Amino acid sequence: MALSEYAGQSPRGNEDATVLRVVPHRLWQPGQTRTEACTNCGDELVLSEEHLMVVLEESGRRIRHYFREESCIEAWLKDE
Ligand SMILES: [Zn+2]
Repeated sequence: MALSEYAGQSPRGNEDATVLRVVPHRLWQPGQTRTEACTNCGDELVLSEEHLMVVLEESGRRIRHYFREESCIEAWLKDE
């Protein structure tokens, strides 16, 4: 599935929120190693290594979520 096709979908159990976009992401911060947990499975992600970022709009705010891979995003979104 093309990453652009996730736009407009909602996370499971949070149907007021909407995915704005999904992009391959890699954060460059010299001298720092920033990690985040995958929003779906909790695996630790090193943000300087390639992963997927979801920008979610919720209550008028844009919130970034980080995922290890596309299957994690699919599991996190509600079934159509
Ligand atoms: Zn995951």
